[in-house]
Amino acid sequence: MDTFMYGFISQLVNYPQSAYLHIPFCHRRCFYCDFPVVPLGDSAQGDHGPGSNSIKSYLDLLYRDISLSPKGIPLATVYIGGGTPSLLSSYQVASLLDHLRVHFGFQYGAEITLEIDPASFDKVSLEGFLEAGINRLSLGAQSFDNNVLKILGRRHSSRDLLEACNLIQDCFKSGQLASWSLDLIKNLPGQNLISWKRQLSKAISILPPHLSIYDLSIEKGTVFAWKMSRGELSLPNDEMSFEISRVTSQILKEEGFSRYEISNYALPGHASRHNRVYWSGASWWGFGQGATACPWGNRFSRPRTRKLYKQWLEMQEISSKNESLKSIQKSQHIPFEDLLIVGLRRREGVNLKELSKDLGWSKDQLKANINALKNCWEYPLGMGWIKQRGWRFYLTDPEGMEISNQILVQMLEWWESLNGCSSD
Ligand code: SF4
Repeated sequence: MDTFMYGFISQLVNYPQSAYLHIPFCHRRCFYCDFPVVPLGDSAQGDHGPGSNSIKSYLDLLYRDISLSPKGIPLATVYIGGGTPSLLSSYQVASLLDHLRVHFGFQYGAEITLEIDPASFDKVSLEGFLEAGINRLSLGAQSFDNNVLKILGRRHSSRDLLEACNLIQDCFKSGQLASWSLDLIKNLPGQNLISWKRQLSKAISILPPHLSIYDLSIEKGTVFAWKMSRGELSLPNDEMSFEISRVTSQILKEEGFSRYEISNYALPGHASRHNRVYWSGASWWGFGQGATACPWGNRFSRPRTRKLYKQWLEMQEISSKNESLKSIQKSQHIPFEDLLIVGLRRREGVNLKELSKDLGWSKDQLKANINALKNCWEYPLGMGWIKQRGWRFYLTDPEGMEISNQILVQMLEWWESLNGCSSD
């Protein structure tokens, strides 16, 4: 069966054709990070030396997790994320992919991404990852400025990053790698327009075909939250932050990048197919500690600690396969408001007629509800920050995307008011 037929069948039954594998290990915890990661120390490695026993025993759990899943149609996208998956050896990555290949199979041209951290790999391990079947990399650069990297608590230096970029770019240019992404963080402590433009120019000069640019967010329980509470973090104010975003969008547009999601920019043909699965509300498998899966539109997360994850797996192994499937079917559907939020972040926005088809609205109800939404959005619609095309609403770039939070809040208030839980 060819890729077209798999896509066709998958659309008919929303059968998962993507898989996420979670690797929860990092060398150290960055000062802004609140992910449930396990720091193993700066010299940790996947298959020998410090931390390797912990990684090996986790991988055994991951293999069991994959084998417990109902079999399905071959995978079109795989994403190995974390954490720092490039802590694994290339043999370990190959073995993970083999488990997926044996269980599900891969479609021709499947996109297989590995998150990779500068200073956690060299030329030999990079070539090993590509030989294992990885064809897309997502490099956690964050910043080219050594002082900023120190403030963030990152392990790599600017020099490590440039070496990593050169290695990856060589593989991309020679056709060994189909695509790669460079990830940066903006709105960092002490950042201004000049320093940000310098970062962006540096990133562009490396010629990555994809850029992910996230805003720093201060999460509870992190070193940054503690520093913030002591007044030791000076973050760009709202005006500066807006200007940084506006300039980013403008410069990247001039460089030929398309902003296909609020934080993601790609040259033609390089948008992440895997991430689009999450944003489109399609189904995916998720394996590993804390991983979220969404088979057949039913979303659930595995336990976030190793101990509970292991116990959960043991319970799944005791129960029959049918019972595992039942537990999937009993789990929660993606809430409509989540579909709205992720949908509106995409360049194409949300098609309310399509999105609401499971809600049982009549045509008149749909029209009335959309009119109510347009009342909530009267100001941003009037300002041209949101556009309507038929049943579809989308944010304009950069204005709409830069104030997306306000627009999303208005949309959620509309949704709450339809459900009779408005605070008014
Ligand atoms: S490398 Fe990434 S996942 Fe690991 S601690 Fe730093 S930000 Fe968190």
